[in-house]
Amino acid sequence: MEDCIFCKIVRNEIPSKKVYEDPDAVAFLDINPANPGHCLVVSKRHYESITDVDDADLKKMIAIVKVMAKRIKTSLNADGINVLQNNGRHAGQIVNHIHFHVIPRFPNDNVIITYQKVNVPNLDEIQKKLSSTGASSGYEWGTRI
Ligand code: AMP
Ligand code: ZN
Repeated sequence: MEDCIFCKIVRNEIPSKKVYEDPDAVAFLDINPANPGHCLVVSKRHYESITDVDDADLKKMIAIVKVMAKRIKTSLNADGINVLQNNGRHAGQIVNHIHFHVIPRFPNDNVIITYQKVNVPNLDEIQKKLSSTGASSGYEWGTRI
């Protein structure tokens, strides 16, 4: 996409610190990291979010997340790793090109990833809504992608 900042990074039109690249995906260091080694795994094709990404590209991205997680563990000696993926403005998505954050964690670091618990009295209703099948479910179990 013409004006997308991550598409521009993919096309090498703006600088980035790439740490992984293949024909489908790229990973580069986050310009504003939560910890040293915080990187972003990005599909080379432009999708806005988890709800419109092609399954094959998503599968590729999560495999690269694993590659980067292993490198972060071995090369940076991280104690733990958070994998985050934001969708939509109210979920904290700033760049509208699908990406996974891979964040190294160290003892006593200052990274805070949290949410408040809320009381949900109508769990049965929510379960029913989320369990609906049919055309909109969009995935056939057993299909290898
Ligand atoms: P999100 O809030 O999930 O959309 O995260 C977007 C991330 O992209 C933020 O952590 C930014 O620091 C990062 N970011 C934005 N522009 C760049 C850039 N040019 N190079 C590297 N990371 C970037
Ligand atoms: Zn893009």
